[in-house]
Amino acid sequence: MTVAAAKGDRDTETDADADVDVDVVIVGAGPSGLTLANILGLQGVHTLVVDERDTLIDYPRGVGLDDESLRTFQSIGLVDRVLPHTVPNQILRFFDGNRRLLAEMAPPDARFGWPKRNGFVQPMVDAELHSGLDRFDCVEVRFGHRMHTCVETTNGVTVEFADGQPAVRARYVVGCDGGRSATRRLMGVSFDGTTSSTRWLVVDCANDPLGHPNSEVGADPRRPYVSIAIAHGIRRFEFMIHPDETDEEADDPAFVRRMLGQLVPYPERVDMIRHRVYTHHSRIASSFRKGRLMLAGDAAHLMPVWQGQGYNSGIRDAANLGWKLAAVVTGKAGDDLLDTYDTERRKHARAMIDLSTMVGRVISPTNRRVAALRDRVIHAASVVPSLKRYVLEMRFKPMPRYQQGAVCHTESGSPNSPTGTLFIQPRVDTRDTQNAMLDDLLGSGFAVLCWSNNLRAVLGEPAFGRWKALGARFVEARPMTQLPWTGHDDPEVVIVGDRTGALKSWFDVYPDSVLFLRPDRCIAGACIAQRAPEMSEALTRVLHLTQGGGSGTDGATTDGKSDRAVLHVAQSASESSGTVTRTTR
Ligand SMILES: Cc1cc2nc3c(=O)[nH]c(=O)nc-3n(C[C@H](O)[C@H](O)[C@H](O)COP(=O)(O)OP(=O)(O)OC[C@H]3O[C@@H](n4cnc5c(N)ncnc54)[C@H](O)[C@@H]3O)c2cc1C
Repeated sequence: MTVAAAKGDRDTETDADADVDVDVVIVGAGPSGLTLANILGLQGVHTLVVDERDTLIDYPRGVGLDDESLRTFQSIGLVDRVLPHTVPNQILRFFDGNRRLLAEMAPPDARFGWPKRNGFVQPMVDAELHSGLDRFDCVEVRFGHRMHTCVETTNGVTVEFADGQPAVRARYVVGCDGGRSATRRLMGVSFDGTTSSTRWLVVDCANDPLGHPNSEVGADPRRPYVSIAIAHGIRRFEFMIHPDETDEEADDPAFVRRMLGQLVPYPERVDMIRHRVYTHHSRIASSFRKGRLMLAGDAAHLMPVWQGQGYNSGIRDAANLGWKLAAVVTGKAGDDLLDTYDTERRKHARAMIDLSTMVGRVISPTNRRVAALRDRVIHAASVVPSLKRYVLEMRFKPMPRYQQGAVCHTESGSPNSPTGTLFIQPRVDTRDTQNAMLDDLLGSGFAVLCWSNNLRAVLGEPAFGRWKALGARFVEARPMTQLPWTGHDDPEVVIVGDRTGALKSWFDVYPDSVLFLRPDRCIAGACIAQRAPEMSEALTRVLHLTQGGGSGTDGATTDGKSDRAVLHVAQSASESSGTVTRTTR
C-alpha cells in the first residue's frame, strides 16, 4: 500500500493535514533514516523515505555498535534480527610502536541491557532496518529519488525531486542524507568544524586472515593502524597515509598489499572486499532544526571514527527525534517539542565529536619523541587502578544528561539528579514471565515507574488518568520477596520483581522513588512519592499536557487504543525547563 493510500485509511483528518500527502518525508535510506522510519512506522505515522541511490549502500562502513543503539533496535522490535550480525563484548586494545599494551577497553557492565561494545556488519544491519519497514502499511521507501529542493509553506513542505518525479507534500522533512546533505544546504545552516589533513587507507576483507575476535589500534609512530574483527569473518584494516604518499599511490593494489603485509603473513592471499582512502571530519551543523526541516545522522554531525560513534550518534538522533515527531504529527504535542531535539542532541553530539577528535590526536602522532612521551604518560597512568578502570570501562564516553529540553528538574543543575539521563534496563520477573527485559514491559510510549509503592495512590487519580490518556504504562518495581503479594494489585499497573537487585541498587543511590520515563527511556522527571502529583503537574506544565486534540492518526498507546491527549512544550529551547522546588523530603 502506498503512503497516500494508507493516509486515506484515517478516520479523522484535520485542516492542517488535509493538504499533505504524508506526515514526514525522510531524505536518505541510511541507518539514521531507516531507524527513524521504523520508530515513526510503529507509531502509525505516514512516512515516505526517499533515496537517490537504487539500493542500500552495500559495503562496510561503521564497524562498532554500542549498547544504546541495540536498545533502540530493541524498542523497534528488530534487535533479534540485528544480533546475528554482531560480535558482542568486543575488546579493543591499544598497542605502542613496540607492541606493548597501552590500554584496553572491555567494559564489563550492561546497565542498559546490552553489551557496550559490539562489532557489526553495517550493510547487513542496515538491510534489517530496511526490511523491518515491511511491517508498516504507513511507511513507503522510494529508491531512485534524489531530493532536489524543499519549499516550505505555512502548513507543510513541498519536496521536489530531480528528473521530474512528482513532488510530495509533507508536514515535516528530516534530512538523513549524509555528510554532504542537501537538506542542510537548503536549511542554510553552517557545518562548523575542521577536516583533518591526515588520510587513512581503509581495507575491508572477507575470510578474516587473522580470525581472532578482538580488535586493536596500533599507535605506532612509523604508521598507525587499526585492525578490527566484525561478524561473518569480515575484518577492517586501516593504515595512516604519510603526507608524501598520494591518494593514487595509496589506492594502488600493490600499496594495499604492502600495508597488509605488516599485519598478515600472506597479503597476496587476502580476500579484499574493497579499499578506499578517506579523511576524518569533525563537524556539526549550527542547528538541527529550521522550521519544518530537521537534520539527523551524518547530515547533522561528522566525527572521526576513533570512538566508533558516527553510526551510533545517528541512531541516537533517531531515538530522540522519533517519539517527538510522532507526538507532534499525531496531535499529542505542540510543534515546540521539536525544538528540544536540537537542544538535547546538538550538545551531546558536540561532546562526542570532541572526544573522538581528541582520541585521534593521541593515537596518531608520527613524531617519535611525541609518541614516546605519550607512551610513558599512558604506561604511568595505567598503574593507577582508578585510571585503568576509567579507560577499561569506557567511563569517558559522554552520556546523555539533559539539563534543558523535554525534562523537568527538581533542582536546577543538581549533579545527583537522574533527570535527563537514560534509565537502566535490568532483567526483571513478573508473576507470569521470568527474566524479561525491563523495556519490553515498559512498552514503546511514556511510562511511570515507582519503587515498591501503590502507584495509583502515589500519583492520585487526576495524574494517573492523564498519563493513562497519553498511553503511558504504569510499573511498580519490588523486591523479589514481595512479587507474589497481591495487596496493591491494580489492572493498570504491572508489578515487576527485581530479580537481579539492580533496581533497588539504583534507587539506593538516588533520592527519588517515582520516575516519569519518556519513550526513549530518558528520565523526564524524578521525585519522592509525596511529590509525585506535583511533579506530574509540573511535567504537565512543562510539556503542556492537556486533554483533547490529536489528528486521529493511530497514536502510540501501548494498549493499541487511540487517545486525544495533547503534549506541548512551551519553553523555548534556550530557556530552562520547568522547576519543581524541593523543600522537605
Ligand atoms: C570508512 C568509514 C568508516 C566508518 N567507521 C565507523 C565506525 O567504526 N563506527 C561508526 O559508528 N561509524 C562509522 N562510520 C560512519 C557511519 O558509517 C555513518 O555515520 C553512518 O552510515 C551514517 O548514517 P546516515 O544514515 O546518517 O547517513 P548515510 O549512511 O551516509 O546515508 C545517507 C543516505 O542519503 C542518501 N542521499 C544523499 N543525498 C540525497 C538526496 N539529495 N536525495 C535522496 N537521497 C540522498 C544517500 O544515497 C545515502 O543512502 C564510518 C564511515 C565510513 C565512511
